[in-house]
Amino acid sequence: MSQSFEFADAWDKSMPHAYQVKRAEFDTILIRNAEKKGVEVHECTKAKSVDFLPDNSGAVIRAERDDGEQFEWKAKFVVDASGRDTFLANRFQIKHRNPKHNSSAIYGHFTGARRNEGQAEGNITIFWFDHGWFWFIPMQGDVTSVGMVTWPYFMKTKGSRTVEQFLRDGIAMCPALSERMKAATLVNEVEATGNFSYVSERNHGENYLLLGDAYAFIDPVFSSGVLLAMNSGVIGAEAIDTCLSKPAEAPAALKRFDALMQHGPKEFSWFIYRVTNPIMRDFFMHPKNIFRVKEALLSVLAGDIFGKTPIWRSIMMFKVLRFHRLETSTLQYSSGK
Ligand SMILES: Cc1cc2nc3c(=O)[nH]c(=O)nc-3n(C[C@H](O)[C@H](O)[C@H](O)COP(=O)(O)OP(=O)(O)OC[C@H]3O[C@@H](n4cnc5c(N)ncnc54)[C@H](O)[C@@H]3O)c2cc1C
Repeated sequence: MSQSFEFADAWDKSMPHAYQVKRAEFDTILIRNAEKKGVEVHECTKAKSVDFLPDNSGAVIRAERDDGEQFEWKAKFVVDASGRDTFLANRFQIKHRNPKHNSSAIYGHFTGARRNEGQAEGNITIFWFDHGWFWFIPMQGDVTSVGMVTWPYFMKTKGSRTVEQFLRDGIAMCPALSERMKAATLVNEVEATGNFSYVSERNHGENYLLLGDAYAFIDPVFSSGVLLAMNSGVIGAEAIDTCLSKPAEAPAALKRFDALMQHGPKEFSWFIYRVTNPIMRDFFMHPKNIFRVKEALLSVLAGDIFGKTPIWRSIMMFKVLRFHRLETSTLQYSSGK
């Protein structure tokens, strides 16, 4: 049994599409555009240390290029966008993994995977199996990204198999997906990443910000990571602009930045932590639009959660009507009432 969701049916009907992009190509477009706008770009260069100066007078960054050349810059403001490397969060020791949400992913790119029919050809499909779920993301050309997300107990069954074999064996355990993959050919090396959910204690200080995954990452299930990272770049730029040009307003700007940074992971994680819950699954398999709940949920899935979106009353209705009774009774049960 399957159920389709169209972003065209979300609350805001003016954004019916999403783009699935290859990161290398997308990132090249972004960096070349930044360069065109006047940014001094240093590629193949890794930040090695950041030393914050006394009296919040900036920081000294030391970096090394792949050919061994060393660089040193003094900066008024530091932006950590180092992704899952979490450069500053590691050094400050403020990164916390989520022990209750410690899944892993094994993924690769394939050609020849059978897509949905007609208009739905480009749609992302999620397949459930006994030990987790798979993403099936059609990209440009005939390439499809297929990833298995699973739990530690299942990862332990990998034994001496390669990650590629483990992915192939996992796919074979999901008949609906393996039927789609009958004629598929792997075109890159299968990769794996474990225990990917974490959040840092803070996302800013007086002269630094942590953006995107350098601050937090919850889960790939709603494909929200790149959107949240891009959004953090925009709100981060606004905050830095205020900090540098109107220092008296810096505390308020950083407070606003903090609230917006927490908003995305908070809203997505509410759904993510319940995605395997039978009530949530039941809703996704038989969605009803009472109080415009379906439209509002589709807006969340489409990432329309910032600015003046009017979805929040409907989302609250969904949370209260569908989950309040369950969560109350769970609480009563565990407290022995
Ligand atoms: C298994 C998995 C599947 C995912 N699937 C999706 C999906 O389908 N859709 C989606 O939107 N998101 C997905 N994500 C999330 C997404 O990949 C991230 O949220 C997103 O890439 C974050 O962007 P970023 O710019 O913060 O970090 P990144 O894209 O990781 O970029 C960080 C950059 O910083 C560089 N860097 C690191 N350390 C240093 C240093 N010391 N000096 C200089 N440069 C450095 C890195 O080389 C890299 O280029 C997935 C994540 C995982 C784990």
